[in-house]
Amino acid sequence: MSTSDSLEKIAHEVATCTRCPLHSTRTNPVPGEGPSNAQIMFIGEGPGFHEDRQGRPFVGASGDFLTEMLNDIGLQREEVFIANVVKCRPPGNRDPEPAEIKACREYLDRQIALINPRAIVTLGRFSMARWFPDARISQIHGKAHTFDGRVVVPFFHPAAALHQPSLRQTVMDDFRKLLTLIQTAAENQPADSDDEPEDLQQLSLF
Ligand code: SF4
Repeated sequence: MSTSDSLEKIAHEVATCTRCPLHSTRTNPVPGEGPSNAQIMFIGEGPGFHEDRQGRPFVGASGDFLTEMLNDIGLQREEVFIANVVKCRPPGNRDPEPAEIKACREYLDRQIALINPRAIVTLGRFSMARWFPDARISQIHGKAHTFDGRVVVPFFHPAAALHQPSLRQTVMDDFRKLLTLIQTAAENQPADSDDEPEDLQQLSLF
């Protein structure tokens, strides 16, 4: 990451990006949004119909559910950073191709480096695969892990709960333990870690 990098610079580059075929079918790029000092970053899969129209992440039904879940645990959407593994909508909401995820990865890498969130919540299997390439989401959802001093928690994508009502309670249960998971994982980091756990009380229900 360049010392002169910024979220605005990334958004500008995404807006003119032609690295993968998704640029040719997008209406608007969706770089992501949220404060540059967010302590929690949510990473989904890719923009859908409404996101593509508005150029903002998670603004359709999945976004409404995400916002509802955040509010349910005492967080405001404006407090967290929300992004996707690909910044342009896959046509017809198809899954992003591995080559598209690879082409777009640098933007997400730079966003993570700039924001340096305390915790990352992956939403769905595509963002989960970045940290847990061989895992099944049904087996590891709702469990916190640490990578280089950062907590990573895989969740089901909110859309999964909308498409499978039986998952809704699972998603809600995962969200309701999120802040405790982050706090516990941070406290259990090795004692020689340079990254001291930070009190998340200002964000949490503790
Ligand atoms: S999805 Fe990513 S890599 Fe592909 S055109 Fe959009 S910004 Fe570029």
